[in-house]
Amino acid sequence: QGEIDFKQDAKFAQHLKKGEGVSDFAKSKTLAQQRQYLPIFSIREELLRVIRENQVIVVVGETGSGKTTQLTQYLHEVGYTNNGIVGCTQPRRVAAMSVAKRVSEEMETELGDKVGYAIRFEDVTGSNTVIKYMTDGVLLRETLKDSDLEKYRIIVMDEAHERSLSTDVLFGILKKVVARRRDFKLIVTSATLNAQKFSDFFGSVPIFHIPGRTFPVQTLYSKTPCEDYVEGAVKQAMAIHITSAPGDILIFMTGQDEIEATCYALQERMEQLASKKEAPKLLILPIYSQLPADLQAKIFENAEDGARKCIVATNIAETSLTVDGIFYVIDTGYGKIKVYNPRMGMDALQVFPVSRAAADQRAGRAGRTGPGTCYRLYTESAYLNEMLPSPVPEIQRTNLGNVVLLLKSLKIDNLLDFDFMDPPPQENILNSMYQLWVLGALNNVGDLTDIGWKMVEFPLDPPLAKMLLMGEQLGCIDEVLTIVSMLSVPSVFFRPKDRVEESDAGREKFFVQESDHLTLLNVYKQWTSNNYRGDWCNDHFLHVKGLRKAREVRSQLLDILKTLKIPLTSCGLDWDVVRMAICSAYFHNSARLKGVGEYVNCRKGMPCHLHPSSALYGLGYTPDYVVYHDLILTAKEYMQCATAVEPQWLAELGPMFFSVKDSDTSMIEHKKKQKQEKTAMEEEMESLRKVEEDKERE
Ligand code: ADP
Ligand code: MG
Repeated sequence: QGEIDFKQDAKFAQHLKKGEGVSDFAKSKTLAQQRQYLPIFSIREELLRVIRENQVIVVVGETGSGKTTQLTQYLHEVGYTNNGIVGCTQPRRVAAMSVAKRVSEEMETELGDKVGYAIRFEDVTGSNTVIKYMTDGVLLRETLKDSDLEKYRIIVMDEAHERSLSTDVLFGILKKVVARRRDFKLIVTSATLNAQKFSDFFGSVPIFHIPGRTFPVQTLYSKTPCEDYVEGAVKQAMAIHITSAPGDILIFMTGQDEIEATCYALQERMEQLASKKEAPKLLILPIYSQLPADLQAKIFENAEDGARKCIVATNIAETSLTVDGIFYVIDTGYGKIKVYNPRMGMDALQVFPVSRAAADQRAGRAGRTGPGTCYRLYTESAYLNEMLPSPVPEIQRTNLGNVVLLLKSLKIDNLLDFDFMDPPPQENILNSMYQLWVLGALNNVGDLTDIGWKMVEFPLDPPLAKMLLMGEQLGCIDEVLTIVSMLSVPSVFFRPKDRVEESDAGREKFFVQESDHLTLLNVYKQWTSNNYRGDWCNDHFLHVKGLRKAREVRSQLLDILKTLKIPLTSCGLDWDVVRMAICSAYFHNSARLKGVGEYVNCRKGMPCHLHPSSALYGLGYTPDYVVYHDLILTAKEYMQCATAVEPQWLAELGPMFFSVKDSDTSMIEHKKKQKQEKTAMEEEMESLRKVEEDKERE
């Protein structure tokens, strides 16, 4: 079998030498034939034997060898799904969705039928589902409800080398499941990094190597450091397009903004050329996690004859997604990662140089289907001297609030004793525990409080969960629910480059003077009263997809509220209490007015600015105190989503941080009491009504 495969391989490479490109290959072969060309196919029997004989194994293979799409199908084909299902975790949402779609096509079944996926707020699986792709975060939450993961026969922990926060926690949890359930199997897959470490963690389990099939990649460095890598990448891509042999291009950028800027610049250059009819077609395709799924899928489509594809991606294309036919890689050398920033006391996405391992992985993408070239927009000395050898696991660099909450609810009392592969710095754990204590989720001895237990139920960051639960206490959960949902989706405001003024004016119409949060509430409410119409969104420069997503999120959170028997209360138009609820969850992010439009963080003293898109900024309203959702670091430290608050609220809701000289009677207690009285009254009326009814019946 191996031999046949090898010959096919040679023929395959021959195709490419003739410049036919993989698109032609994909076009001329059925899906079943394509499956048989993958490296993993040649060792299928051997792999299945090792799986049969071991409870845990580690599978290592080059990206694109077929681990993610094939392994689950093999397990299904040989009957592991007769009792239980096969789950496969991914660190990225995009990968979970895209791979599930591909596998459902290969198995000729509707997505959501035999093959499905689940990501936060979206479950596309059904009673027929036997292969389930999901984010590692989703599986982690499932362990809350079912600590033995009874419904799974096998879990494939894919992309383990990414060392995402949830994957790292799952390692510890699954190790226990493996010990408890003899009928359960675990397969850990990884690109070439870290395999030995994974094997050691589970007690020296076998490591299975999928033979690679890669071609040499020539690496070219920049002679001098690149000042503007967007510009650098655009120039390089155009040079390749005009002068080099056929083959698609893959550019690595750090995030959505840069990707859009790059695509825009490429489009412009192509238009200039088109007028002179000098270049063949270039298909410019962005991919990043917030891009709508239908646009994401486009990167896999074949370009029309003679056209070249140019994919502009975040590090999602490093290992999670493999697009065939890439011959040229342009690497900026940077990526965005989430790090805990002690100065701000919170996580922030920041741009960092990638590690050498990641850079090599990026380069490797050019050598999947033939000899390729990688253009590094940094110097060789930067590669050798400035880049870390491998990435720092997320668990060692981010806020652990959610993890602590989750582990506490799994009754793991001493977090410092949990079986972490690489334990987080003790300081991080303590810091996260402190934040949860501040939010009232942990008590003085570090146990979950009533509110803490409820917070665990929501797939939300702890402050957002707190906001919802405060909404319950203040009688405005309906309003808070909408705000939380709107904060859980990408911005719904649409701002096309060629209609900036018009769209800004459109956004202003929704402004609520005191608050960006209330502005979001206002948008949602108006959309509701316009029957959730799409054309209404277009007229008002709103992304209909974003709003629909918010509506879905809302209904899922509502289901959770129902299971917790928390009734939906509304405060009508008394939106002050909504601001209190926001304040109760975000007082750690509060800022005091210092100069014109200039604030300083109340606790840390660092400057924070109102964002130009903020309602407060737009209407020139500068309250003395605000709380904000997030701080974004671009040219300045901008507060994202700000809301005016009263200083007394800060003192009352965050007494561990703030106090006021002589606080009047408590506003919040007053509101709470008002609400309690109202509820008591309603209950009274209700029981009266029941008595009346009973009387009538008698
Ligand atoms: P690995 O997990 O080992 O990196 P995959 O199973 O993801 O490999 O990929 C195997 C092959 O399937 C690759 O050649 C890739 O191009 C193809 N593939 C994966 N997802 C899709 C998709 N959504 N559309 C088209 N081809 C896909
Ligand atoms: Mg994969």
